[in-house]
Amino acid sequence: MAVQIDHPFVQHKLALIRDVETGHKRFRELAREITQFICYEALKNIRTREVVVETPVAPAPCRTIDSDLVVIPILRAGVGMLDGILDLLPTARVGFVGLYRDEETKEPVTYYERFPPQIKGGTCIVIDPMLATGGSTVAALNLLKEQGAEDIIVICIVTCPEGIEAVESVHPDVPIFAASIDDGLDERSYIVPGLGDAGDRLFGTSHH
Ligand code: URA
Repeated sequence: MAVQIDHPFVQHKLALIRDVETGHKRFRELAREITQFICYEALKNIRTREVVVETPVAPAPCRTIDSDLVVIPILRAGVGMLDGILDLLPTARVGFVGLYRDEETKEPVTYYERFPPQIKGGTCIVIDPMLATGGSTVAALNLLKEQGAEDIIVICIVTCPEGIEAVESVHPDVPIFAASIDDGLDERSYIVPGLGDAGDRLFGTSHH
């Protein structure tokens, strides 16, 4: 399942972040803001527990979040979404996965992985701004499931049908939430129209 968050706040910020004239400071701020709105929507069905709280007036039936949350940025660009999520979920734990593409085999190779044990039994939120071919997302999901994760969602800023299909064909149980499902990939595997290289734009390593 892939869900595009059509709320005008998200779509307005998406228009700004796509703009080639948006510099890295503003790009980072927008990535953070967009991530927060998507996360808010994506977690609306998270498990809660019924509790009773004493107000100054009377006992009030309330609900609190009843799941260990683990956020997993895919290095490097996923880090640009981390602060936004941690603002919303300050007690979340953080795992990391670093992957590169072997130029010969074209397969993703893991160069770094470190997950908190709470991935087992908790809710895992994998973050990567661009879900393009889906190669790294599938590899990250494989790693998480090998280590016992069962409840996983993916949050990205922009994705495309090819990436969604790649994830859904291997991990149909993992929902994908994005600000936009774009048209597709170009010959360099960039998302079209996309927003360019998200890592470069986040960290100021591009020429713009
Ligand atoms: N990664 C990016 O940063 N941008 C794309 O368009 C595709 C993959």
